[in-house]
Formats: sequence, C-alpha cells, structure tokens
Amino acid sequence: MHWENDLPISTQFDDFYFSRVSGVAESHHVFLEQNQLTGRFQTLTPGATFTIGETGFGTGLNFLCAWQLFLENAPNDCSLNFISTEKYPLKPDDMHKALGAFEELSHLTHEMVSAYKLDPENINLQFFDSASNKSIHLSVLIGDVLDTLPRINKKVDAWFLDGFSPAKNPDMWQPGLFQTLKAKSHEQTTYATFTAARLVRDGLTNAGFSVTRQPGFGKKRDMISGQLIPSSGLPTATKPWFAPARHQNPDKNAIIIGGGLAGCSTARSLAKRGWQVTILEQHDSLAREASGNPQGVLYAKLSADNTPLSQFIVKGYHYTLSLLKTLEVQEWSSFLWQQCGVIQLAIDEKTNRRYQALDTQHPDTLLKYLDDQQLSEIAGLTVNSPGLYFPEAGWVNPPAFCRALANHPNIKVVTNTVVTGLEASEQGWIINTRDEALKCKTVVIAQGTASHQLPLLDYLPLKAIRGQITQVKATTESQQLASCVCGEGYIAPAIDDAHTMGATFHFKDNSTEVREADHKENLAMQAEHFPAMYQSLGGSEATVTGGRTGFRCTTPDYLPVVGPVVNTDRFLEIYAPLRKNSKLLITETPDYLDGLYITAGHGSRGMISCPIAGETLATMITGMETEALDNEQSPSMSTKLLEALHPSRFLIRDLIRNKV
Ligand code: SAM
Repeated sequence: MHWENDLPISTQFDDFYFSRVSGVAESHHVFLEQNQLTGRFQTLTPGATFTIGETGFGTGLNFLCAWQLFLENAPNDCSLNFISTEKYPLKPDDMHKALGAFEELSHLTHEMVSAYKLDPENINLQFFDSASNKSIHLSVLIGDVLDTLPRINKKVDAWFLDGFSPAKNPDMWQPGLFQTLKAKSHEQTTYATFTAARLVRDGLTNAGFSVTRQPGFGKKRDMISGQLIPSSGLPTATKPWFAPARHQNPDKNAIIIGGGLAGCSTARSLAKRGWQVTILEQHDSLAREASGNPQGVLYAKLSADNTPLSQFIVKGYHYTLSLLKTLEVQEWSSFLWQQCGVIQLAIDEKTNRRYQALDTQHPDTLLKYLDDQQLSEIAGLTVNSPGLYFPEAGWVNPPAFCRALANHPNIKVVTNTVVTGLEASEQGWIINTRDEALKCKTVVIAQGTASHQLPLLDYLPLKAIRGQITQVKATTESQQLASCVCGEGYIAPAIDDAHTMGATFHFKDNSTEVREADHKENLAMQAEHFPAMYQSLGGSEATVTGGRTGFRCTTPDYLPVVGPVVNTDRFLEIYAPLRKNSKLLITETPDYLDGLYITAGHGSRGMISCPIAGETLATMITGMETEALDNEQSPSMSTKLLEALHPSRFLIRDLIRNKV
C-alpha cells in the first residue's frame, strides 16, 4: 500500500481503501444502514450472537463502525461475531495511521490495533465490554476470499461486500463468491455493497438474492442491497396459510393456459428468466376475449387512503409503462400504444375531494390535479370539471400488447387448443386438450372467468361483468381530442377515423351480442360528463361504426388473484379450527398443488394489473426477482401485498367468518 495526502491506497488494486469524503459516513451509509443493523441489533434477544461477514478487511474501518454501533444498540450479554477475509493484510502501523483520521473511533482503533498481530493464516481477536457484558469476536481469514470464505462454518446474518469494484478487482467477483455467499446465508440474511455493477447484480440475482438499488454514498449514484430470497423467490409470509409454495422445477418449462394479457404477461416474465413457455389458446389468435378491445385506457383508479389495491395499482402502472417502453423499442408499432396522457374528471364533489387528496400524496410525474381550463387545454376540447391528469398514461391496443409480449424466442403460442381438464400425476401436470394430453411440471391458469370452471379452482369467487364498447366515426372537430378523457366511461383520441368509448357495466348477463341500447348508454355517458366531445361527434346523430363485448373477470375485493393454488380439502381441514377461534395460532403451512399457479381477476384494469402479476408469478416460480427499476418503482411486492393477492385469501376469510 501507499499514501496520498494521508489516505491509504492499495498498490495492488490502485484504489483508495475508503471514501475520500468520509470513510466513517460511507461505512454507515453503505454497510450499516442498508443492512438495517441499528434495528437488528436493538431487537436481539439478550445472549444472542450476531454474525457479520465481510469481503476485504483492509484497514478494519467497517469492523470498527459495526463494533461501535453494536455497543450502542445491542442489549447486554449479546455477542458480535465479525468474520472478514484479506488477501493483502496491512501492517498494524499502517492501519493505525489510516484510522487516525477518525477521532470518534479512536479508543476502539487503539484497542484493535494494539491486539492486532500479523499471522499468515487467521487473525482471531476477542474484545469484551465489561459494563454491558458484550463480547466482540473478530476473525480475519488471510488469503483469497474464494479460498477462505467457503471454510467458515457459520451462517452469516449480514454481509458487507467490500473489496474494490469489479473493474479494479475482477478476480474477486466470481460466480464462486456468490455461491459461497448463498451457502453461508440463511433466510433472513441481508447484504449491502457499494457497487451496483451489472456483474455484481447478476451474480447476486443468480445466486438467489434480491437486488434493490439505493442511492450511493457521496458522488456514487447507486449502490445495492438485498436479502436471500427464500426458495419460493419471495419474502416469508406473516401468516402460515400464506406461506410461499416451495416448488422446484429443474426443467424450466411452463404451460400457460390462456392467451390474453394475463397469460402473455406471465409468459414474457418467465421467458426473460430463461424458461421455455407454451401458451395454449382456445381461439385462433391471442387476445380474443377480455383483452380484445382496440383501445384500452391506462386508467389508474386510486383511493386516497393508500389501500393495498391502490399500492398495487401504482406499482402495476409504473411497471406497465416501463414494459411498454421496452416493447416499443424492440417491436415498434404505432398501434401498440399512444402516450397521450389520461384525464380523470371529477364527476361529483366526493370524487373531487378524493382527487385533491391524491394530488398531495403523489408526485406530479404520476398525477396532477388541474382545473377545468387547464384540462381543456390538454384535452383539446372543453371539459366542464376539474380532475386528475396522468401525463405518462395513454391508451394501449391490448391485442398488439399481447402479441408483442408473446413475441420472444422462448415463447411458443399454440392456438385453437381447448383445454378440457387438468390432472396431477407423478411426473407433473397432465393438461388434457381436445386433441392430446400434454405434460408439464409448471402450469399457470390465466383464463379469466373460465379459470374457476376447473374443479381445482372452483372455490375462487370470480365474477364476469359484461362490458360493451362503442366505436364512433371521428369528425374534424372530434379529432382535436388529444388525450384520453374518463368520466364515468372513457373516450380515446381517434385512430383509423374512429373513437373508442366505453364501457357498459352489466352483471349477470352473459350475452356476447353487441346491442344498440348499450351503444346509447356509452354515448349518454359522454353526453353527461363530456358534452363538448358528444357534440363534436354529432350528438344524437353520431355515427356508430362498430362495437365489441367482453367480460371483465373480477373478485369481491377488486384485487386480482395471483399466486399458487392449494389443495382445498386439505386447506379447509388444516385451518378448520379458525371457524371457532380466528385468533388461534396454527403453525402448519398449506399443501400446495405442486407447480400450479393462477393469474386472474384483473377486472377492467388488465393492462395495469396483468404485467406486474406476471412478474410476481415468475419471481415465485423461478426464484429470480426482477431487476429493480428504482426503489419506488420496483416491481417486487411486499409480503403484505402478496398476501392481498393470494388465491387462498377467500378461503381464509370464509373460514374466519365460518362461512365455507
Ligand atoms: N473494508 C475495508 C475497510 O473497512 O477498510 C476496506 C476494504 S478495501 C476497499 C478492499 C480490501 O479487499 C482490500 O484490503 C483488498 O486487499 C481486499 N481484497 C481484494 N481482493 C481480495 C480477495 N480476492 N480476497 C481477499 N481480500 C481481497
């Protein structure tokens, strides 16, 4: 090593040991905070040991910071076990000089350096704080981390992945390192590292860790942190009945039943994780049912009290936008979507108050509350109410979206294939179709309202709601409409000389016919909430050029059903005692039907809901999380949200109400 202005530099790697700005602050920001050590230390049970593993001991600064934090926060009688590795150990004098800059650590520095003696193998030091009865054990394994780390016989609670960037130190960031990190971790193990290099993100993801970008320290834009993902690919459940399914599928093949947005999105998410996917579609092309309308509005209906449904919609909205942008680059088609913005009119006073509240809760990039004049300018036609403007939203052509999603080398689309039944066998699922029996260990049901016609899924309370859209001939005046406008219904800017407006809402009506009365209903909604538009189309003389009927698949709580499918009889048996006492502690986890998953119940917001649901399922199935876009927009779901989407939630609710 050598020095530059009293700062130590590694000669081997030509880099500073710690930040020139402030080594201590960097150590806190990157390693201590992102591993949430303050809270984790505070909640240790008296007598517990916490183990930290580090790659690259260097000057020992990270160790000193962790030691100090431990003394300040851990309960009495606890122990800290700090295991580090070092290929080029520093001499104690050099450590002393390097650490001399940090006044706040001087007494710990002195204690460590005076005990520190170079040794060709391991340096083991023990420190003890008699006032609190806390002990600190430091172990520095001398040698290359790839040789030393596999030898430790402890599971680590938090990793400090230091050791210079992959650009300066490519030999250290090897697949073997990531595999060792996994082998020496348990289900709650976390890590943090100063680098956000692709090689490190991929290495950690492939080894089964989640990867979340965080702001880096000082001038560094990003760093990453995360935790080992339990074998399901998702955080552990808070309730035993929502425990993740532990499905192993080494052959990386999946069959998806249903070629609408739910199926195509899940196929895409699996395919990009290297899985081979077959979509079975009963019609002669994709998107022939609920996803078949020519223009669907990216309509994010949010509530002001940040319900799980609202959180899900915001996540889904961001994810769909990012996905549309990547598809647009790869397979540009002007029919895929138009990012023309979406206006949601405040059609009554209650809605107006909700919109004002939402405006204070969300950034302007998501939505803005604007008055009628401002909205009229954006819309290109006069609107009569204030409302919300979603600048990044627009309309999407759902069939083009489905085709773009399924257009991937790992996806095969098999049309004209009607699935007649599903049977479990020793070798996985047998999918009976009218022509043949197919086999696959992983099956995803994405058939909208038809999903619960399968006997295994008949407990799901899915409902079909009929919706008819109307297409109206555009006029010179109506062509001025520049963004989508939603009141009670919606209308989109013209394509091919026609506007799409929609949609009716009829329960308990399974007719597919396109009705004149429903066209009138759609026009009447425009007449009431967007009269300038209605007039521009010719008022009662408007020319209807077409229409289409679809069935929204909805659930009683309006959240979709996304996740693994249980053996219902066994589930009801295990949790039957909840009928009498809903507070009873039952620790048994459910029996899942191995390899069977569902994504359905996306209602009329499939374009926002299906892609994120596909990502969620693919994470569950493969154990590989999505690369985070950034914190707020990360598509990964919290445990709470996953539980809100879980297919078993209805069974549990009914048991607790003693209804099943
Ligand atoms: N954590 C240190 C601190 O608190 O001062 C700073 C570590 S410094 C940025 C990186 C350290 O990793 C250097 O001391 C370097 O010698 C060590 N290192 C790099 N590659 C290594 C390897 N393959 N095995 C073990 N140590 C390594």
